[in-house]
Amino acid sequence: MSEGCNFCGETTTKLLRCGRCNSRFYCGSSCPKEDWPAHESTCKPQNFVLRIVLWPQAIVKPRITRTLSCPSTSTFSKLHEAIQVVFDWSSTHAWDFDLFDYSTTRNRVNKRARGEPVLKIKDMSIFKDHHPDVPTRDSAKVTLGKLLGSKSPDRTIHYNYDFGDC
Ligand SMILES: [Zn+2]
Ligand SMILES: [Zn+2]
Repeated sequence: MSEGCNFCGETTTKLLRCGRCNSRFYCGSSCPKEDWPAHESTCKPQNFVLRIVLWPQAIVKPRITRTLSCPSTSTFSKLHEAIQVVFDWSSTHAWDFDLFDYSTTRNRVNKRARGEPVLKIKDMSIFKDHHPDVPTRDSAKVTLGKLLGSKSPDRTIHYNYDFGDC
């Protein structure tokens, strides 16, 4: 990480970060634009490698896992679609995501958090009802980078699929 703006060198305490690669810093909004022609070739979206464990409290011998590599610019709706593809499901049931602090699952044998999540993410074009106590975000609008980026605390994500709705 550099001390000042990566384009003009200006030092300021409030540097903006390139939202795509998260690795270049700028002092003001004109510097990213002016730097873009030079920066474009090296600007790669961050990637998250997510390990998915299928039903960890029940399927243990052996565990069924998939590993996904997702750009930080993907939305949680896209992550849902990717999970459907890797498990060869057909997206016929309701789904949502619950985010927990990693610290609440770290020492659990089955990695299943209990209690309320810190955040719920769901398809708000289908589900309008809100959990009264848990903040809820729209899966079509929130990206992985927004919630899993380097500035966020470590998270455990529960993907809930098929609540017995059919
Ligand atoms: Zn600058
Ligand atoms: Zn960049």
